[in-house]
Amino acid sequence: MLRRTMAEFDIAAGLQHVLKRIESVLQSRPQEINTPKPLLVAVSKTKPVECIIEAYNAGQRHFGENYVQELVEKSQHPDILAQCPDIKWHLIGHLQSNKINKVLKLPNLYMIQTVDSEKLANGIDAAWAKRQPEPTEPLRVLVQVNTSGEDVKSGVDASAAPSLYQYISDNLKHLKPVGIMTIGAYGFDYSNGPNPDFVALLQVQREICKANSLPADAVQVSMGMSNDYDRAIEMGSTIVRVGTAIFGHRPKASE
Ligand SMILES: *Cc1c(COP(=O)(O)O)cnc(C)c1O
Repeated sequence: MLRRTMAEFDIAAGLQHVLKRIESVLQSRPQEINTPKPLLVAVSKTKPVECIIEAYNAGQRHFGENYVQELVEKSQHPDILAQCPDIKWHLIGHLQSNKINKVLKLPNLYMIQTVDSEKLANGIDAAWAKRQPEPTEPLRVLVQVNTSGEDVKSGVDASAAPSLYQYISDNLKHLKPVGIMTIGAYGFDYSNGPNPDFVALLQVQREICKANSLPADAVQVSMGMSNDYDRAIEMGSTIVRVGTAIFGHRPKASE
């Protein structure tokens, strides 16, 4: 899977298109939405390392993978290590407790976006504390919220998310909770109004800020993918995770 040769898709052009679209949404969205320019995480799942290097050479630094095994292979790949020294990896898929150590020892791990239980948070905290070489800073994590309430989706219920966030921030000193994340229901029809998953995530953000007397920009919101990152930014998303629009379509079976 990682050995497919160069993409027929123009990755640099895909990336430029997304960056331009982000700029234009920032200009045109309602003025009261004044969150900073969102961080673009390029989702490279199922794409070979050549594609990642191509995006890196076009200026992209943050990359997201949602399968642990792919993150393990790509982050340690000799070409990535040699050619992408400033790459920053985000795990955006479910993390099983028995794979925590495997992930936390990876080079250039930047953020885990999918913490959804105290047990998982405890495990990550303990593993980061024991990591060699000793980490110089706490590991950034997002609490994943299951805003759509679908059984198949990971994530903590919206009602329980603020307390999980609080738990991490009060008790786990090797972790730095920097925000919350949702995947949301697929294929929302925007003619029905604002995406309820985004509305729900922003509500959780407000609750966390209120409970801790924090300004809104202290709690990041990771929402929006290829088909709706523009809509998410209109509502104040601070992290967008975009795959297809940068790298082209993925083979159906591995979606
Ligand atoms: C695959 C994936 C994305 C990106 O999806 P695209 O539609 O290709 O942009 C974003 N977030 C998560 C969690 C994903 O698994």
